[in-house]
Amino acid sequence: MFDTLGDKLGNVFDNLTGRGALSEKDVNAAMREIRVALLEADVALPVVKTFVEKIRREAVGEKVIKSIKPGQMVVKIVNDALIDMLGGTLSDEDADKEEAAKATHLNLSGRPPVAILMAGLQGSGKTTTSGKIALYLKKAFKKKILLASLDTNRPAAMEQLGMLAKQADVGFLPIIKGQSALEIAKRAMSEGAKGGYDVVFLDTAGRTTINDELMDEVEAIAKETQPIETLLVADSLTGQDAVETAKRFHERLPLTGLVLTRIDGDGRGGAALSMRAVTGLPIKFLGTGEKLDGLEAFDAERLAGRILG
Ligand code: GDP
Repeated sequence: MFDTLGDKLGNVFDNLTGRGALSEKDVNAAMREIRVALLEADVALPVVKTFVEKIRREAVGEKVIKSIKPGQMVVKIVNDALIDMLGGTLSDEDADKEEAAKATHLNLSGRPPVAILMAGLQGSGKTTTSGKIALYLKKAFKKKILLASLDTNRPAAMEQLGMLAKQADVGFLPIIKGQSALEIAKRAMSEGAKGGYDVVFLDTAGRTTINDELMDEVEAIAKETQPIETLLVADSLTGQDAVETAKRFHERLPLTGLVLTRIDGDGRGGAALSMRAVTGLPIKFLGTGEKLDGLEAFDAERLAGRILG
């Protein structure tokens, strides 16, 4: 992902840094090229507009043009703006909260067991991501994890989560046929408390499209279990559809963060780049492979560095 965008921005940067002096015209031409590169990468239009305007405000003017290395200065401005767009810069108030969550990337404070609700469309990578984060929390933070599948429509999905729990060597809530998703969620929380678990993952049912039935169900589960984190898992390969899905889920659910899967895929990357700005939600993790170790705690600076090289 991001290869084409990275190449294009790399060319713009080479042009900027390859010469000593820069005129306003040069900077404006570079802004236009950056705009086109972002749009071609499928970054949402309002996000591109805001991004380019921000860079233009900072990059056009005496301070940059008259500096010793104007090209490098523009490159730094673009780099910082990209980190900002991905969620790198926090307000002071957020910074405190973020500081507390930084260690795990998730807020796990609260009386155990805390619930993490996993939401998303079918096929987005929700179940796999539940297994991945469970393993991550177990390995890095010694948390005792219980995985529960609430997908009453798809026994295969329940079994898949059971297999992942086995692989990750974490707890799995036994399946009782005939229970509703809400009943399973309640049972998961009480079993979680009885078994001394720190975190209970509630892997909600996915659907191929967003519909009221799905939303009502997830909303009721969220109300009942009061999850400390409600994560939306979105497939970054589905481009702007992923952004639209995130917006729709966010209208109904108190989402606390995003996980973008299939970052290892061959996509243009626009969804991943727009997601934070469009939804206002922090990206918490990236899915980087099919296996349980294919998970990366999100770091805006690292991703910007990967794109800009
Ligand atoms: P769910 O329906 O949302 O629960 O989706 P699944 O967890 O079953 O994932 C659907 C498919 O996507 C599976 O074949 C997963 O192995 C695969 N998958 C999930 N996350 C990633 C990822 O980050 N990268 C890649 N390459 N494949 C993934």
